[in-house]
Amino acid sequence: MKIMKLKYVLLSLIVSFCTVSCLDNGKATRNSEGKSPSEEITEASDFKYWTWITADAKRPDSSYTAEFKKYKNYGLDAVLINTATDPQLLTRLTPLAVDQGLEVHAWIMAMNRPGDSVALQHPEWYAVSREGNSAFDTRPYVDYYQWLCPTREGSRGHVLSLVERLAKVKGVTSIHLDYIRFPDIFLPVGLLPKYDLKQERELPEFDFCYCEVCVAEFEKIHHKNPLNMENPAIDMEWKQFRLNKIKEVVDDAYQIVHKNGKILTAAVFPYPEMSDHMVRQRWDKWNIDAVLPMIYNGFYNEEIDWIGFATKQGVEDLKNNNVELHTGVYLPDMDSVKLSKAIQLAKENGAKGISFFDGGAFTQETLEAVKASKSN
Ligand SMILES: [Zn+2]
Repeated sequence: MKIMKLKYVLLSLIVSFCTVSCLDNGKATRNSEGKSPSEEITEASDFKYWTWITADAKRPDSSYTAEFKKYKNYGLDAVLINTATDPQLLTRLTPLAVDQGLEVHAWIMAMNRPGDSVALQHPEWYAVSREGNSAFDTRPYVDYYQWLCPTREGSRGHVLSLVERLAKVKGVTSIHLDYIRFPDIFLPVGLLPKYDLKQERELPEFDFCYCEVCVAEFEKIHHKNPLNMENPAIDMEWKQFRLNKIKEVVDDAYQIVHKNGKILTAAVFPYPEMSDHMVRQRWDKWNIDAVLPMIYNGFYNEEIDWIGFATKQGVEDLKNNNVELHTGVYLPDMDSVKLSKAIQLAKENGAKGISFFDGGAFTQETLEAVKASKSN
């Protein structure tokens, strides 16, 4: 039970995504409440509501249509669909959501690829820990942590080819990168007791990628070997090298999706410095259209007001970048009162929208809270 919950929590961490801006189209006439059309459009389009969902190919179309209709009725604008990078399933589901008036975003687990049948044929593609173990067979924290190296031509090319396949699906608005980072060098503090772990420094079994390609490339540039460092955690070039490697994957994905007429979004950690510290992810430096930081206060033993703090940190960091930020929240930790407050905090602190993890965790009460927030 504990493990299941932990897995769920971790899985949710990994997931996340964000989307793009809203379209200011349409001309309304003055409505019965006397609002001018521009006020109404601004209100409706300035703040977007999203939810992450995981698809199941066995479910019939009618079941999906009912789910999408429900989201639309309660005021959602967009769905982020995880089809396990299956473009056929995405092709089937996209028109069902679009017909209900929802935007569709193709959510992909990028660097963490558990059970990827192509990658599994190339054990050398997997990230290697400072202890020398490959995530191919030695997985940090949980079984589904099977991370690829972002540097090797084979593994990064594979991830980008998956992005491209999804980007070719008609009707999709964005490709949404999730797990676009290294494995957690520090877990969220709220999760540590469940693993019976103390992480007061960077521990070698959670520190990646020390594969021979990464080490050789780093050595060529900086003339030092991270495997010989007494404390690699304090070597800034070594950290920067890894931040840059993730950025390079994102920037290449950006080119690919834009070439296919889509935009790029990503599920990221709460705010840039925190993401850098925990998972070597510096998303304020990326070429991307929108980010959906997973501002899951419960994971970090923080209160609801922290959602406002973290949102503002990210918004400030992106203010010169033309990148939208949509706050991600974790539904299982929310009742309707907390959720209403979270939506308000996201709005007040400059987010362009809010995304809920995940669709299956909505209750009648939280759906009503979403709907009610639209008229506030
Ligand atoms: Zn590597």
